[in-house]
Amino acid sequence: MKIAEIEAIAMAVPMEEQIAAPISMPRADEVAGVVFKEYRTTMVRITTDDGITGIGECMTRLSGTALRDIVHYIAPALIGRDPRDVESIWDLMWSIMMNRGHVKGFYQEAMAGIDTALWDIFGKSLGVPVWRLLGGKTNPKIWCYASSLRLRDIAILRDEIDKHKENGFNAMKFKIGKDPMNWRGEMKLVEQIRAHAGDDITLMSDVNCGYSGDLKTALEVGRALEGEGIYWYEEPLAPDDIDGYAYLRDKLSIRIATGEADFNKYSFARFFKRDAIDIVQHDAARSAGITESRKIADMADAFRVAYAPHNGSSSNIIMTVSLHLATYAPNFLIYEYMQSDWNKEQRNPLRWDLCQMPIKEFKDSHIVLEEKPGLGIDINEEIVERYRLP
Ligand SMILES: [Mg+2]
Repeated sequence: MKIAEIEAIAMAVPMEEQIAAPISMPRADEVAGVVFKEYRTTMVRITTDDGITGIGECMTRLSGTALRDIVHYIAPALIGRDPRDVESIWDLMWSIMMNRGHVKGFYQEAMAGIDTALWDIFGKSLGVPVWRLLGGKTNPKIWCYASSLRLRDIAILRDEIDKHKENGFNAMKFKIGKDPMNWRGEMKLVEQIRAHAGDDITLMSDVNCGYSGDLKTALEVGRALEGEGIYWYEEPLAPDDIDGYAYLRDKLSIRIATGEADFNKYSFARFFKRDAIDIVQHDAARSAGITESRKIADMADAFRVAYAPHNGSSSNIIMTVSLHLATYAPNFLIYEYMQSDWNKEQRNPLRWDLCQMPIKEFKDSHIVLEEKPGLGIDINEEIVERYRLP
C-alpha cells in the first residue's frame, strides 16, 4: 500500500457579527477581531494507491491557508510511502523542520493533520477502529464534562447548568480570568455556580492563560478555587511557564492542568520532570497528531499525571480523534465534550455538520463509541465545498 495523494483543504465561516473575545486570553479586546473573525479549520485527505481515503484535521486558530500550504510542501516527501508506517513518516516530517526552528506552532499543527489521516487509513486497511491499533479498549465508557460555562448573569448560568444536568452531565467547566484585577468579583459568581450546581457535580475552572506573568494573582485565585471544591485549575499561566506551574503545584492542593497550547514530547517531558502539573491536556490536532499524542499521554502516566484531552471549538474530526485516544489511554481521566460554539449567537457548521462523531451512546456523562474502521467518520462534502477557501 502506498500514499498516492495528499490534499489539504482550508475552510472558514465568517462571523455574521463581530464578537468580543469569549475567553480570558491576554489583551483579549485588541486581538478578538483577528482571532475570532471566523470559524476555521484545515482538513487533510490522503488517498492510497488501492483507493483507501484517510481524514485528518489541523488545529486552525489563525490561517488555514498557511497550514494548507505547509501540508502541500511536505507532501512530496511522503508520496509513495506505506501509510501504515506512522512512526517512520512522523519522524520524516519532524526531520524536515526540526533543526530549522519549527518544533512548535503551525508546523506541528500541519503534521497533526497528516499523521491523523495516516492512522485513519491504517485502521480502515485492517477494518478496525484506531483505538484498537493504539492498544485496545482500556476505557469502554468515556467520562465527559460539558465545556464550557462563561461567567455572566447568574440567572443565565443557572439555566445553562440545569440544561447540562438535564442532558446527562455530572461534570462541567467554567471560564474565569477575564478581569484579573477583579478576580474576587468573579469568585462571587463561582460561589453561586457551586451553590446552584450542588456538591455532586464535578466543577473545573479554565483561565486560558489569563494570569500569565502574574503569579501572585494566580496563587490567590487558586486558593479561592480550593475553597469552592473545584476539581482542577486549568491554564492559569502562559503555555510553557514551567517554573510558574511548578510553583503553583507546590503551593496549592487543587489539581493543576495544562497542555492545550503546547506541542511536543520534549516540552511536555520538562513539565513532568519538574512535577509541575497533575493533568495533561494536549490536543492531538495541535501536538503533531496521534503518534506524538499517545507518547505524551504514556509518558504522563509514568509521572502519575492524568490525561484529559483538550477539545476546543474545532470540528468533529478532532473531537473524534480525542475519543480514540481516550478509549486507549490507561491514565485517561475525562473528555472535554464541547457543548457550545465560542460565538453562542452563530452556529459553527464546521463543528457540527462537517462530520458526525461515531458515538453509540451518551448516558450518565459517559460516551460509548461505535466500532467502525479507522476514525469512523464520513465527511459531508457539501460543507467542504460551501466553506473551502480559494
Ligand atoms: Mg482550556
